Amino acid sequence: MIRNDELFISKIYSILDKEQVRYDEPLKTHTSFKIGGPCDYFLEPRTIREINETLKLCKTCGLEVFVLGNGSNLLVTDKGFRGVIIHIYNNFSDVSITGTQVKAQSGISLASLSAKAANNHLTGIEFASGIPGTLGGAVCMNAGAYGGEMKQVVSKVIATSLNGELREFTKDELDFGYRHSVLQDGDYIVLEVEIELSYGVVENIRDTMKELNARRKEKQPLECLSAGSTFKRPEGYYAGKLIMDAGLRGYNIGDAMVSEKHCGFVINTGEATFDEVYRLIQYIKHQVKERFQVELEREVKIIGEL
Ligand SMILES: Cc1cc2nc3c(=O)[nH]c(=O)nc-3n(C[C@H](O)[C@H](O)[C@H](O)COP(=O)(O)OP(=O)(O)OC[C@H]3O[C@@H](n4cnc5c(N)ncnc54)[C@H](O)[C@@H]3O)c2cc1C
Repeated sequence: MIRNDELFISKIYSILDKEQVRYDEPLKTHTSFKIGGPCDYFLEPRTIREINETLKLCKTCGLEVFVLGNGSNLLVTDKGFRGVIIHIYNNFSDVSITGTQVKAQSGISLASLSAKAANNHLTGIEFASGIPGTLGGAVCMNAGAYGGEMKQVVSKVIATSLNGELREFTKDELDFGYRHSVLQDGDYIVLEVEIELSYGVVENIRDTMKELNARRKEKQPLECLSAGSTFKRPEGYYAGKLIMDAGLRGYNIGDAMVSEKHCGFVINTGEATFDEVYRLIQYIKHQVKERFQVELEREVKIIGEL
């Protein structure tokens, strides 16, 4: 389908206000890697109606859509993204708690959500407090840490399709697996998530969060720019250990480097380009395959024009 940018620009202001629409927004400012060129349109809707109408307009105009959370699992190309980025973030961060059931909008950060759960004496989501993503991104990725994963707590998701139609997903329909859910095909925007927790002792919940975050700080290069673990954990191995054993600790291509603190993280030491990170990822995969016959699979998602 041929893109109709003129139509898009003429109609978008009947859905969103001026300050909700940006042109040529550099995506490096919205990703934890701090890498990535501009997108054509960067939109920050405030309501579900605005999201749905925007999606319908994008479809009519033949514009590709990508939903962005906190950009903490993304590697964006230097040319950027040709189409519309819909940013689901602070505008969608309401939470309501009834007993042990939490209903939260998808743009809330996992840190805020787990702190709110703790304040309400709810246990079960402590594992997520140090993962720097939004709830929507975490459900999409089935994010997890220290034995917990979103799959264990999510009971229902309300999403909208790229055609602008609302749909509910039960837990089974989400098809959760290791760092996988059905939402990764990019056909839906998560709007609201229902989470089922249990009552606990508030001091214990806070202690657990503190302890997990201290472990994270000790082991992971949180002071560096990255998108977290670059690779998924291969069955029976740890990606970081394989990379270290392949002699790649500190190995760099330009400003892209294998973290010395945790070899499972590729970091941006300054002005790394997409190309440098991508070449380093390919090099790591090749070396690990050669030495240990293990196929590393990328966890970090790549988007943008090559
Ligand atoms: C220092 C560091 C530590 C990390 N530690 C962990 C960890 O312990 N465990 C772990 O699992 N991950 C970890 N990550 C990776 C990352 O934080 C998670 O994958 C997180 O869930 C991504 O959320 P996000 O909002 O940043 O999503 P983004 O990076 O913005 O997007 C990731 C994917 O989710 C989709 N998405 C985002 N929002 C929505 C939405 N509302 N609806 C539908 N799809 C959506 C995007 O389209 C994309 O496909 C870490 C990252 C960093 C930088």
